[in-house]
Amino acid sequence: MHDVTIIGAGPAGTAAGYVLREAGFSVLILDKYKFPRKKACAGGITPKAMALFPYDISFLIHRTCHRVRIRRPGGKTFIIREKKPLCYMTRRQDLDQFTLNMFMKKGGRFQVSRKIISILEKPGHIDLCFMDHKHEKQSIQSRYLIGADGANSIVRQLTHSAFGIMKYPALEADIPMDQPWKYPMEFDFSMGIKGYYWIFPKKNHLNIGIYSIAGHRGLTRKALARYARMRFGRTDMENIKGYPIGVGGFSESPAPGRILLAGDAAGMAEGLLGEGIYFALKSGQSAAKAIINAMASGKDAGDLYGRSVRFIRLELALHHHGAKGLYRFPALFLALARHPFCHKPFSRGYASGIPLSQNFFLNRWCIWKNCPRVNGA
Ligand SMILES: Cc1cc2nc3c(=O)[nH]c(=O)nc-3n(C[C@H](O)[C@H](O)[C@H](O)COP(=O)(O)OP(=O)(O)OC[C@H]3O[C@@H](n4cnc5c(N)ncnc54)[C@H](O)[C@@H]3O)c2cc1C
Repeated sequence: MHDVTIIGAGPAGTAAGYVLREAGFSVLILDKYKFPRKKACAGGITPKAMALFPYDISFLIHRTCHRVRIRRPGGKTFIIREKKPLCYMTRRQDLDQFTLNMFMKKGGRFQVSRKIISILEKPGHIDLCFMDHKHEKQSIQSRYLIGADGANSIVRQLTHSAFGIMKYPALEADIPMDQPWKYPMEFDFSMGIKGYYWIFPKKNHLNIGIYSIAGHRGLTRKALARYARMRFGRTDMENIKGYPIGVGGFSESPAPGRILLAGDAAGMAEGLLGEGIYFALKSGQSAAKAIINAMASGKDAGDLYGRSVRFIRLELALHHHGAKGLYRFPALFLALARHPFCHKPFSRGYASGIPLSQNFFLNRWCIWKNCPRVNGA
């Protein structure tokens, strides 16, 4: 019997696996794909997410962005600049392969599972039945299970059917280019969708994409191709991929028990810009720590996890309300945001890796007081 089985080898799953292996637990990660695998994700790592990796990932960074261009409704732009990086550009496929390798270097086991058939919570353990890479049925037991299998989570469907999340779609593509660094990182809110288009410069290509909180309407390859032609005179897009982002976890408290949901599976991505890697890492690590704590104290892991993700849920709720305001009144919101007086407290905190909740309540006061937490001194 394994101590913990984790379903999903994305950031939430491997972050949880690494913490558990460091504590000496036997851990098996199952994923439906062999790695490396392509994953729809722009690979933008914010400073607060970067700070959560327990090992160095700097060699995976294509580009460090100190400025972001914001395009407002009507087409006017403004630039947000910070001395500290605002975002690190990586390729998700490489990042996930590396984090999985780090987990396995710690002694963790990885296996491909084509299909999860059943998950049953029994007193003291979990029975899991799945189809392996040869399409043969396998049954395993573990003391705990972490569902880190993304927005369409099968673990959530089989075990937490009342746990409701929202799915916001995003679609992306790469445009190969010799000098992608000529373009700054950009969020374009001028296209009249309840969301934005993004342009993320990488080493040898631009990653462009669309994100919307209003469902799939308008999120098509055609729309992305039209945008690529309009902005860069190009239509030769590669690696076109779409996937939903799991949001809404702020309104659901994790259930007690031995099966914990983390990352997008638990709706723990934020709805404002669709950032999910930070929340996946944070919730994956919290789930692992809750299990370690439960094994030592005999307490309920689900309860401990519920308590430890309260901060994440507050953070997600703030982003949710921010998204409601921004996408309802984008022109007004961004007209205000263009003034440094309005965006500096947020961008400075953002670049220092400070979560929004701390920005929201403390940042103005901290800047006024020249507080070291904000200045990162
Ligand atoms: C187009 C797009 C762009 C994005 N850009 C960014 C960005 O720049 N920055 C950012 O922070 N966030 C971004 N996000 C959000 C981010 O990708 C997710 O929030 C994040 O990947 C969630 O991590 P996770 O570990 O919870 O789930 P995932 O990364 O989705 O990983 C889930 C894993 O589970 C596996 N799996 C799924 N189903 C099963 C199953 N039945 N059995 C076994 N394994 C299974 C999958 O193969 C996958 O490996 C983007 C999302 C999209 C769609």
